[in-house]
Amino acid sequence: MRIGIFGGTFDPPHVGHLLAASDAIEALALDRVLLIPAAQQPLKADSAAAPARDRLAMVRAMVEGDARFAVDPVEIERGGLSYTVETLRVLHERWRADKQLALFLLLGADAAVTLPKWREPEAIAALAEIVVLTRSAHPATVAVGQISGQWITTRRVDLSSTEIRARVRAAKSIHGFVPDKVAAYIAGAGLYR
Ligand code: ATP
Repeated sequence: MRIGIFGGTFDPPHVGHLLAASDAIEALALDRVLLIPAAQQPLKADSAAAPARDRLAMVRAMVEGDARFAVDPVEIERGGLSYTVETLRVLHERWRADKQLALFLLLGADAAVTLPKWREPEAIAALAEIVVLTRSAHPATVAVGQISGQWITTRRVDLSSTEIRARVRAAKSIHGFVPDKVAAYIAGAGLYR
């Protein structure tokens, strides 16, 4: 199995996440992408605006019924700071019977530049192929600090969760910024006001 791992705070998940991950599925011929909401991102100073259970529910709502994706609550269930290296070890353990297992760690360019600061970056690179999602053409391989991986070209919608939270706070529409089910969840739970 060729599995993409796409982690994030997903506060909230948005169409930028969805389109970049969809492009990665096609570029890498992945069987599936696991979306893994973090309990707490070690490098994000502020804690998430929405509680973990809401972020998990929104990620589920975003990909519900889409067989290309699965949502994994492993980091939220573990709680505390979410270290990718620990998550990758859990996934390897889960699929240890699959000798063909290939894990691809999908990182936006902004996340990739911080990789040398993550816990055990060399171990991460040994457990998964590092794939940097970028909108522009780049050389096929990339070195992030001491770590090497590959660039792939994916769509990059000019959109962030930060902007969506700000729009909700300002009572602006987020229609089209997030899938409709996510917008309905945000409204129903009264998030980001
Ligand atoms: P925030 O604005 O709260 O920092 P974000 O929109 O950057 O959030 P994250 O949940 O932090 O979202 O991102 C998860 C992953 O998605 C990261 O690897 C990030 O680089 C990538 N990503 C974020 N926004 C986009 C986008 N518009 N297009 C493609 N990838 C994205």
